[in-house]
Amino acid sequence: MYAGLKNTPCCLCGRDETHTRIAVPPRALGLMENGDPISWRDVVGTVTLRFCADDWDLVSDLAIEMDAHPLSRCNAAHVSLDLREDHEALLSAVKGETDQTELESRLAAEAGETLDAVDDPYTEERDVVEAIVVLRALEELGVREGPGGGAETAVADDD
Ligand SMILES: [Zn+2]
Repeated sequence: MYAGLKNTPCCLCGRDETHTRIAVPPRALGLMENGDPISWRDVVGTVTLRFCADDWDLVSDLAIEMDAHPLSRCNAAHVSLDLREDHEALLSAVKGETDQTELESRLAAEAGETLDAVDDPYTEERDVVEAIVVLRALEELGVREGPGGGAETAVADDD
């Protein structure tokens, strides 16, 4: 595993020139292509995904119009991340898995704040897309309950 990769290509098409990047929790590697061999518990900090301009348009539409994330089509070999071993070597850090829940809670809270401010003129579209990707990924992974507090959505029965 190539750790600490900084200038990664577009994670959808592999093109070198990228336009926009977003950060997702390490657990989201499990939703990506080629993500299985990566020990997400050993990732320090967030995982950075970069997109070329064309793919960013697609990702933005997918998130904002479909309320969905593109991770199943992202190649985990093209993401940027730091593995704990690197830090251990430098810092002789303690053994044990990195606790991801604190980071996940923080990212989810930040994403929630972004979506609460979605009509604010200072809210960037990039941030909104990132927030949707983070929240939908955490929901799919079962870390976080979906809209509606996890209860089955009531089906209107008024015909
Ligand atoms: Zn691309």
